[in-house]
Amino acid sequence: MNTKTCPRCGACWINDQHYWTGTNKKGDETKLASLICDHFKDPNCINPKRGTTDGEEFRRRQEDFERIKSDMDAFINKHK
Ligand SMILES: [Zn+2]
Repeated sequence: MNTKTCPRCGACWINDQHYWTGTNKKGDETKLASLICDHFKDPNCINPKRGTTDGEEFRRRQEDFERIKSDMDAFINKHK
């Protein structure tokens, strides 16, 4: 059995299968790349899918968060 851990995002690979750290669930290298690796653009990252995405997922999540936050603010203001 061979295990590898990315020094950048902490993701681990067991026999070349990526697992999400902490959950032991089978991972998704592309998702990992777009969420973390391609955001840092760190050459030390060992994700084989690093550089194949534009980090869009990360930005989309941030936008989702902003939208939720402004909805919350609007809700709170309405119920003041
Ligand atoms: Zn990584």
